[in-house]
Amino acid sequence: MKQNLLDFDFQQLTAWFAEQGEKPFRARQVLRWIYKSGEHDFDAMSDLAKTLREKLKQTACIQAPMVMREETASDGTRKWLLDVGTGNAVETVFIPEDDRGTLCVSTQAGCALDCSFCATGKQGFNRNLTTAEIIGQVWWANHELGKGADGNWPVTNVVLMGMGEPLLNFENVMDALSLMMEDQAYGLSKRRVTISTSGVVPAIDRLKNHTDASLAVSLHAPNDELRNELVPINRKYPIKELLRSVSGYMDTLSDRRVPVIEYTLIAGVNDHRQHARELAVLLKDFPCKINLIPFNPFALSDYRRPSSSSISNFRQILHEAGYTVTVRTTRADDIGAACGQLVGEVGDNTRRSQRYRDAAEVQKDNESRSNLEQNNETAAQVTGKRFSRADNLAVAIDRPPRPSV
Ligand code: SF4
Repeated sequence: MKQNLLDFDFQQLTAWFAEQGEKPFRARQVLRWIYKSGEHDFDAMSDLAKTLREKLKQTACIQAPMVMREETASDGTRKWLLDVGTGNAVETVFIPEDDRGTLCVSTQAGCALDCSFCATGKQGFNRNLTTAEIIGQVWWANHELGKGADGNWPVTNVVLMGMGEPLLNFENVMDALSLMMEDQAYGLSKRRVTISTSGVVPAIDRLKNHTDASLAVSLHAPNDELRNELVPINRKYPIKELLRSVSGYMDTLSDRRVPVIEYTLIAGVNDHRQHARELAVLLKDFPCKINLIPFNPFALSDYRRPSSSSISNFRQILHEAGYTVTVRTTRADDIGAACGQLVGEVGDNTRRSQRYRDAAEVQKDNESRSNLEQNNETAAQVTGKRFSRADNLAVAIDRPPRPSV
């Protein structure tokens, strides 16, 4: 089988060329072709000797995941469903703005963590993505969108906020991050590459030895009791431990960056004024920015998005307590590409997706039974006669067809 060169960071590619009996500088040349020029054809790599190009064609390939489906939202956001083989496909979203282009990248096929407000979690989990499948999403998006008039790639920022928990795929994610930030590859600034985690504390503790990328923390609740419900990994790594671990990482960075606290606002669940006050107290000794994300509805969830006034009240309380607070604008919910809505295709190993579908069926059945009972009650009040379920079906069947127009 040919070696996919997207699976290697700079160091690994250098070692691979050495194994092939080639000079180390070949790694730099090839890396630049792949990431600076977006090239996947060895024949086009004109500064490589012809014999080396022939050899590479026999032994290696440059293969990003293949696109299965592509959608463009009314606001210009693009979403791709990418085939990662073995019955799995992941979603990648490009969000264009005036001064940047942000790519939301997936790191796993599905997710094992099952946060209650997230569509990905409901699909269960299949496997970690390879380095090639992660960096390949950036490669694909740049390739598809093409360089701008200034000669730069459109992807200027990357957030690991797509499908999966990035820190549960630690090694492959670290290799992909190093390619995003490596000068010979995409050379993105550490401020423009963000890992978003639900709080895998041992992995956050390891981060400082591997990267200096920016960090976002999915908090979503101001206390352990509520967070245990919304983000189940909290039962293992509670809030205090999580904040201690994040501070430890931020302290090792050479600049004065602060983490972003992500807080999905769910109507009637975590959006009360009291929650905002509690959050303000919780974070008072924890330098951070807070990003509020109004919940984005999806099938299999009964949660609702809060009203504009409760979002604004929540924001105001935090603002008055001295925090920098942003409210994330909902983008691309018309194509299911907003935060928490991503679903690919997951060959679920956990059987969780089936359990959720079964539960939804039972709920639908219960609802239709209770509607029927209500209708019966109304009918009984009007006619003085009670109908059985069989009567209702019979009424439906006996009803004469509507005349055609
Ligand atoms: S929010 Fe993130 S960690 Fe939680 S289930 Fe969704 S993808 Fe997994």
